[in-house]
Amino acid sequence: MPTLSPRIQNIVPGADDGWGVQEKAYRMMREGRDIILLTMGDHDFPTAEPIRQACADALAAGRTTYGSIHGIVPLRDLIAKRGSAAHGVEIDPDHVVLSMGGQAALFAAASATLDPGDEAIVIEPYYATYAQTIRAVGGVPVTVQTRADDGFQPDSDTLRAAMTPKTRMILCNSPNNPSGALYTRATLEKIAALCIEHDLWLVSDEVYHSQVYTGAHVSPAALPGMRERTLIIDSMSKSHAMTGWRAGWLICPDSETANCVIDLFLTSAYGLAPFIQLAMRAALATGKGPEHEIAERYRFRRDRAVAALSRSARLKLHAPDAAMYILIDLRHMAPDAEAFAYALLEETGVAVMPGDSFGASTAGHIRISLTASDEVLTEACTRIARFADQWSTAP
Ligand code: PLP
Repeated sequence: MPTLSPRIQNIVPGADDGWGVQEKAYRMMREGRDIILLTMGDHDFPTAEPIRQACADALAAGRTTYGSIHGIVPLRDLIAKRGSAAHGVEIDPDHVVLSMGGQAALFAAASATLDPGDEAIVIEPYYATYAQTIRAVGGVPVTVQTRADDGFQPDSDTLRAAMTPKTRMILCNSPNNPSGALYTRATLEKIAALCIEHDLWLVSDEVYHSQVYTGAHVSPAALPGMRERTLIIDSMSKSHAMTGWRAGWLICPDSETANCVIDLFLTSAYGLAPFIQLAMRAALATGKGPEHEIAERYRFRRDRAVAALSRSARLKLHAPDAAMYILIDLRHMAPDAEAFAYALLEETGVAVMPGDSFGASTAGHIRISLTASDEVLTEACTRIARFADQWSTAP
């Protein structure tokens, strides 16, 4: 058999990709244990009925042919209008390219900016696929740490120290998964200054921009000199509870970039299905209501979860400013957060992500997803708080 390309074999190096606790939780579920899964960022409720109905109507009308690779015009018009308000820049619908979720937009952005051997700076803590996506296109991820004590805001000296003549792109994610941090305007200005000074691309993953509870979202694209070097990633997975639909897009700075991305998708997904595009259009045509309702649901859960976790004086946490997760700081009591997560699962049936899965900056932390019903989430947080109290007195 001929050998596989080293590039494709190296996408996920090593055996452990950080999902071991979840794998174990699934095994325990198959054995009949009652498990509360707070590992994944996937909703516990389905997409709203009118969106599902729009898809069903499109299917009933036979809209099952190939779809536009670029995206149908009325949908791109709606995305551009929504995006102009959300990102604070005027967006031309022709610069929007639909993608199979935000993930394919990340892949397209990495493909568009990196040649084999080029380096991309990934700011910790990061979404688990970032380094893998960069490796998938032959790039080299260079991670940069942030500090819990600075609210996970990146610092420009650390970013500068990570740069080499091979650096081509910075990948940044605000609102951030897993920390729930919103990068401040001052932080983003420092990142922007480095991008301009070193003529770098900025890939700005903003898929959580609709779920902001404290403060205001600032898109780096809106800062002076950044529009022409920023690729914005967005998706309806989180905002509209549409994870399984693979409904995302990339916002390019100009038509030339958009056309190259369309060519890339010509060779891969070949466009989203028409019935998906029509459902996306129906969802966005109703305005901000549906996404606002989902954001409010997560705000309510965040407040309930913080209250339940705070019953243990041992747990240190910051109520997240945004997104669907809470990071719990265990460095003072359980620096090996992975061991804590496995023990928590065995003793209480609650599955959480060890912080190391998101980079060294969140070692000694665990992340819970707010993706269980209000009652189940409160029960899980109560169990975590009780377990933490016990753990503190364990020999
Ligand atoms: N970016 C971030 C920060 C995420 O957390 C996720 C999913 O969890 C994605 C991108 C990918 O989302 P999608 O479902 O749109 O591919």
